[in-house]
Parts: sequence; structure tokens; C-alpha cells
Amino acid sequence: MGAGTRRLFGKASVTRQLQRTLTGWRITWRILRRFTPSLLVFTPSMLSNDHSALRLSKSRFMAGVQCLKRLYFQVHHPELAAQPDETALASLRQGQEVGELAREAFPGGVLVNADKLNLPEAVERTSQLVADGEVKTIFEGTFKQDDIVVRTDILARKPRGGWRLVEVKASTDIKAHHPSDVAIQQYVLNASLLEIEPSLMHVNRGYVYDGREYDLEMLFTIRDMGSEVEKLQAKLPEMIRQQRVVLSRPDPPEIAPGRHCEDPIRCEFYDHCNPELPDDHVQLLPAISATRLNQLAARGITSIHEIPADFPLSTRQRRACHCVQTAAPWFDEGLKEAIGQLEYPLRFMDFETVNPALPRFPGMRPYDPIPFQWSVHTRETADDPPEHHEFLAEDESDPRLLFLNSLLGIIGRDGHIVVYNRTFEYQRLEELARWIPEYAGRIGQIQARLWDLLEAVKKNVYHPRFRGSFSLKRVLPALIPELTYDRMCVADGEEAGLAWEKMIRGQVSEQEKARLRKALLDYCSLDTLAMVRLLDYLTNAATTGT
Ligand code: SF4
Repeated sequence: MGAGTRRLFGKASVTRQLQRTLTGWRITWRILRRFTPSLLVFTPSMLSNDHSALRLSKSRFMAGVQCLKRLYFQVHHPELAAQPDETALASLRQGQEVGELAREAFPGGVLVNADKLNLPEAVERTSQLVADGEVKTIFEGTFKQDDIVVRTDILARKPRGGWRLVEVKASTDIKAHHPSDVAIQQYVLNASLLEIEPSLMHVNRGYVYDGREYDLEMLFTIRDMGSEVEKLQAKLPEMIRQQRVVLSRPDPPEIAPGRHCEDPIRCEFYDHCNPELPDDHVQLLPAISATRLNQLAARGITSIHEIPADFPLSTRQRRACHCVQTAAPWFDEGLKEAIGQLEYPLRFMDFETVNPALPRFPGMRPYDPIPFQWSVHTRETADDPPEHHEFLAEDESDPRLLFLNSLLGIIGRDGHIVVYNRTFEYQRLEELARWIPEYAGRIGQIQARLWDLLEAVKKNVYHPRFRGSFSLKRVLPALIPELTYDRMCVADGEEAGLAWEKMIRGQVSEQEKARLRKALLDYCSLDTLAMVRLLDYLTNAATTGT
């Protein structure tokens, strides 16, 4: 930890944690407000005059830091925003769980519980709490200065005067946009005549949960943000002025979409600004860098068909370029050699996981993935039909030992285990060996048998419809269109994690549980069946060259 790092003191009971966890799963109006506070606190109907349109909040300010056009759309065209999806809402729920737990590190704190739509009340209540010397800590304090509104996660009174501002994040480190987030709060609080020591409290990835109670001192880390925030203070008036100038104009600023559309978060106007690219767009070359894209843009080239032969590209990019230009797939001679390495019997294996910020079982650290499902297709010889086996954890209890034991019962000791992205399954097995060390030897044998179909595809195959990606979800429909994830209730790993959480947490009907269970089993089974079929397809392509 750095010099500015502090530890907290206190314990939280498991009971309280469980209550909190269950509570956190309710999709509440409160969460939605937190998701788009600027849209909900200041709705278009409230913008009755130009003055209110110029009002800033912390979230509006941060939207403007990411992109001034995003800020403009939030205020003047919120109807263009995409609705928050399940993944975004789950991420917010997780942030809320972390935020509520972080408060327990400041016992006796007072929450400003005024309805957030009633801004004057919240500001007034905060002002009363600040004036009351008996109040040591304020949660969700609300401040308004210079027509900028901020809500502070934690404000702790220092023994010798002044306040420590603590911004809570569910991240495991300070990110590039965090200083601006804290700086705008300090700016407003300073204007409210408060002396502030700014800091940021985040999850400590190194903390190991003992399975009984959270040690808040170890689970959280508080980092001093004084120097980072200080550097920004002088720039803030100009940044604020610039945001208000943009908001006062009749049209949005002309800002081209780019990597900033997904950094630090995927902008809610992404689909509006980024229409689907045609298959031949230069941005769809695999791993194309911003530098190369700028060089192509400078020459006015947007289509892969227009890229000259002498333009610098990597081997993989040049191959993709050739495929698109000739509208033909490409299979390298190395494909036959790669497939020839495979030793039967084969196992085609896939894991599903969720990685909660707050660890749930002994030995786990924040964001450690919990393995909850596997699917394996077995094939004894190349001529045998595949057989399917599967495991799905059915409740909230620790699934790790059941997961591992059931897998060991089917995985055998001979032949290769085919996976799509070896690193993922290898690391999950590594974690299982750490948690259940008596199985480390057997797990090591499984790891030694992993064979990466993704690597074979990346090195040896390209199809114009890959659109720059080698993910199974892109490769499969391009090569084997009849096998598709379209119309599946669960269609990717993230959705699988969300469906499993819903299923095990018991807040859905039995009918819904059964539906989620089936969707999960269908999805994971398709992942391994897809590998079986893909290997068949590539074996044929390696032989025939088509
Ligand atoms: S999608 Fe990109 S360009 Fe459009 S508003 Fe969002 S960040 Fe700005």
C-alpha cells in the first residue's frame, strides 16, 4: 500500500451481510436514480428555462468529462439513451452493496435520507448535520454551490477540524477518471466553506475472506487523493464553464465517436452515435490500433477494400484484409498440423462463473470468480458421436467442491481437453487448486491436458464475417450458420452469471427458476457442442482447404 493508504477498523456479521445482499437484489427506484441521476433528478420537464439546463451535478459533470456530447444529450435529448440492461443494473446493485458495507466502517454515521427529488430538503438537512458537532459522519450529504449539486458518499468530521471526504468505489484500484470525480466534490464543498481532505475508498483485491465475517479493515483501502485532486482544482472553473457553454447551445457539439465512447463506461448514447459498421469497415480488422485507424482516416480510407497493399498491418490483419477483399475464407496449412496434435479420447469443456466484488466463501478474494456450471462433451474416437455431461449449482451454498468432484468424475485421465480460450479454464482450475489443495495434483493433470481451439482458429483461420473477432459467438455463425446463439434466453457468459444469481437467490417463482435453469443448461451445452462441430468443420477444411 502507498503512503496515503489507510486501514479501517470494524467487523460486519455474516447475518448482516446476507440481509444486505438480499436487499441489494431488489431493483429499486433508488438504484435507477443512481444510474442516471442527472436524468432523473433533473428531468426535461423540470428544465423549464435555460438556467436549469445549465445546472450541473456530479454525474453530469463526469458525463461531460467523458464526452461533451454525452453531457449535451443527457440534458437535451435523454430520449436517445439506451435503457440500462441487466448487466448495467447488476453492476449498480453491486456498487450499492459495496457502498452500504463501506458505511459500516464509519459507525454512528447519519444518512441524509431526504427524498432525492427534494433537493432543497436534502441540502438543508446536510447543512444541519454539518452544524451539529455531535455528528461525526454524514452519508449521502448533499451540497449545492454555483448551481452545481454533489452528493458525497461519506463525509467524516476530523477531530481537529475539517472533514475527510471519502468517495466509495467498487473497483480494486484508483482509475483514471476518479480524480475528476473527487475533485468536483471538493470544489463544491470548498465553496460551501468546508475544509476537505479528499480520499477514495476501494475494495482491496488482496483481502482473503475467512468465511465468517468481513474484516472491513482489510476488505477496504482508503487512498489519499490530495495531490491528484489538487492538480485538477485550477482547471475546474474552465471545465465547468466549457460544459455550460456546450449546454447553452442549440445543437450538440461535433464529436466523432471513438474509444472514449466506452471509457470509462459504455456511453448510454453509444447506439445512437455508433451505427452498425459494414463488414468491410477498417475498424473491423483484428486488433487494429488507434494509430493505424488515424493513418487510414488521414488518407480518407474507411473500407478494407481501399487499403493499399503496402499499408503496414500485422500478419493477422493483412490476412483478414485479404479475406474481406476476396470475399473468401482462409485456412492456413498449419491448421492440419494443429488438429493433428489432438489425442483421443477428447473432452470438450466449458465453465461458467460469476465474480462478485464481495467474496462469498472461505479463501476467496474480492472479484474471485465462483465456478457454478460446467458442460463437457466427450468423444472416445473421431467416429463416435459426442456424449453430453453437465453440472449446475442449484442453490446459494458453496458450489466449488461439488463442481470439482462432478467434473473429476467425467473428465478421465487420458486425451486432450478442448477448450475455447485456455487461459480462462486454466485460471479457474488454478483457483480451485488453491481453495481445495488436496485436489491440486489431479487439477494439475487436467491443466496439462488443455488444448486451445481458439488459438488454433486465431493462427490458422479467418472468415470475412468474423468482423475482426475470434470469439465463439462470432466464429460459429460465420462457419456453421445452423448453430446459433440467436434467440437463446441466455446468450453469453455475462447473461449466464446474471441468470444463475437470479435462480439461486430465490426471489423468483418456481416456474421462473425452471426457465432459468433450462436456459443455463441449454447455453453451456451449446458452448461445448459448438466446439465439437467446429473441430469437425475445421478437420474437414484442413483436409480439403475449403
Ligand atoms: S457515444 Fe461517444 S460520441 Fe456519442 S455521446 Fe457517447 S461518448 Fe460521445
